[in-house]
Amino acid sequence: MLGFSIPKILLLIFIILLVWYAFKVIEKRTSLQKTRSSNKGKSQSSKYKSENTQDLEKCPACSNYFMPGSKCTECNPTK
Ligand SMILES: [Zn+2]
Repeated sequence: MLGFSIPKILLLIFIILLVWYAFKVIEKRTSLQKTRSSNKGKSQSSKYKSENTQDLEKCPACSNYFMPGSKCTECNPTK
């Protein structure tokens, strides 16, 4: 009557699912590339470095990392 048979409808659904899946994969891939490239560009001024974190200094004697402005906690224990 309508020219549709169940195998045709199933094939259509299969094609739609295939296209949807391919689109999802491509979208995921491009978003990964975007985050990668943006991380590269922002590595110096990222929000992780803005307020609460400081670069630790490395002790030349024991290679322990300590807060800049203070002395090495390994070589100069506080107590
Ligand atoms: Zn030290």
